[in-house]
Order: sequence, then structure tokens, then C-alpha cells
Amino acid sequence: MAEASVVRSIGRMRTWTRTERDRGRTIGFVPTMGALHDGHLALVDASTRACDRTVVSIFVNPQQFGPGEDFDAYPRTMAADRRRCRDAGVDAIFAPPPRAMYPTRPLTRVSVPELSETLCGATRPGHFDGVCLVVAKLLHAVNPDLLFLGQKDAQQATILRRMITDLDLPVRVRVRPTVRERDGLALSSRNRYLTRDERAYAPTLFRALRAGRDRVRAGDDAPAVRRAMRDTLGRRPFTRIEYVEVVDADTLRPVRRVERKVLLALAVHVGEARLIDNLVARPPGRVARGGRSR
Ligand code: AMP
Repeated sequence: MAEASVVRSIGRMRTWTRTERDRGRTIGFVPTMGALHDGHLALVDASTRACDRTVVSIFVNPQQFGPGEDFDAYPRTMAADRRRCRDAGVDAIFAPPPRAMYPTRPLTRVSVPELSETLCGATRPGHFDGVCLVVAKLLHAVNPDLLFLGQKDAQQATILRRMITDLDLPVRVRVRPTVRERDGLALSSRNRYLTRDERAYAPTLFRALRAGRDRVRAGDDAPAVRRAMRDTLGRRPFTRIEYVEVVDADTLRPVRRVERKVLLALAVHVGEARLIDNLVARPPGRVARGGRSR
């Protein structure tokens, strides 16, 4: 497999895309913060199947980290990432240094307020503005036909879809399912912060989501669903629950009665790692698209 070219400036990235476009090629784009794992690679795989060329960006975006968050500690594993990209058939890695993305302190805000206030937005003020700003900039640099995002970050995907719609950005969005370890733990670059005991506990998050989904399928209201999830999470000396929520899958607003598709979402601090996960659930009598009740 050929080595992916590493592109470090916005201008070069634009030229690369223009050249590929002129040759009639379609471009898929997978934005990441690096420390690549099989969840990222599933997005790359979807892109290489759907598009002629695939670009992965690797950029730990300072704008989306709050004070006291793990920006400095965030894993940076460029050499391994390059190998994984090469083996996965990535054509270009866009890895700009921070000064290329932010030569001056950005004053422009890109906000999708209503969708950014719940779930992770409630405890990470400004986080999604930082995500929207960087993804808008990355989309301008890469100019892809398709953008691949993970369901793992469901709120992020919902917000970015809305930003793209509201700003008429010429890109289509594909959201791909969460990739998990065999024991259910969602793959995340932050899982490497976990100690052995914490790692043994971590699949409990997915178990809690499944317990919640069972309650939704049984026709329970949100308080009972939340209770089932919290009971399953239990307490450990190294855990702190940030939120356990039942929200409308489209508006992300908390619901009381579960009458349509909902997103069960949680964020739990497990030792040094802040882990998030989610699952979509439908109340009884709702038939999923495709005709089968899931
Ligand atoms: P990150 O590097 O964590 O910013 O993630 C980059 C992209 O990969 C985002 O669209 C994430 O939603 C997606 N992603 C992260 N973890 C997973 C996973 N376990 N399964 C699927 N997609 C994921």
C-alpha cells in the first residue's frame, strides 16, 4: 500500500483536492484527533468504499478543550497513525500544526446553540463551538464530497449535520455505527487512560445503555429508564457520573414520556478518563425503517 501524503498547510490541502477533482475523483473525509483505533478505521473503510480518494485529518483542536481538560495529555501517536492510514488505503493525511489552523486567535464563533446545550454541552461550555469552528475550517480546506462521522459522538454528529445544513455547505454526511470491544466498551482514544480495575469496570457503561433500552422497549417513561441505567452503573470509588439522559433523538431535548425514537446517552468519569457512550432506542409498537421492529 502506498504511503499517504502528509499535508501540513491549508493551501496545499486545497491544491491536492483541486488536482484530484480535476481528474474526476470523488473525495471522502474523516476528521480525527489522531491516536487512531478501529473506530476511526471503520470510518476510513466506509470512505474508501464510497469515494475514489480518502483524506484523514489529524488535529488535536485546542479550541474544543476547556481549561483543566486533557489537551496536553491527549495522546499524540503520529508515526503509528501514519502506518494505520497507509494500511487502510488513506490517500492524504491533513495534519496542520496549530499555527496553520489558527495563525491568529479566532474571533469568529460557529454555534448551533439549541443542540449544544444538553448532554456534553451542559458541562463543557464552548466545546461544540470549538468543534464547529474546526470542522467548518477543515471542510473549507479539504472540500470533500462526503464527510464520515461516528455515532459514538452522537451529539457532535447531530450538531455538525445542522451546521452543514444551515450554512449550505456542499458536503453530504454519513454517520457510521459505534465500534466496540468484544465486551461492549466503545473504542476511544481516551480508553488508554484507564487502569486495570477501571478498564474492567468500563464495559458497564454499555451494559447500562442496554438496560435502559430494555426499559424503553418495555414501554417505560424516562425516569424509570434513567433509574435502570444508573442502577446498572452503580458506584465505584473511581467513578463519577456526569449525566445519564434520555433525549429526543433529533432535537436532543430531554423527554419524560418515550413516544418516539430516543437517544440514551451517558458520560461517566472513570479515573482520569471521561467516557461517553450512547444507544438509540424505540418504544414498543414503533417499527424501524426497513419494516423490522428492532
Ligand atoms: P476523535 O478522534 O475522537 O475526535 O473521533 C474522530 C471521529 O471518529 C468522530 O467522528 C468520532 O465519532 C469517530 N469515532 C470515535 N470513536 C469511535 C468508535 N468507537 N466507533 C465509531 N466511530 C468513532
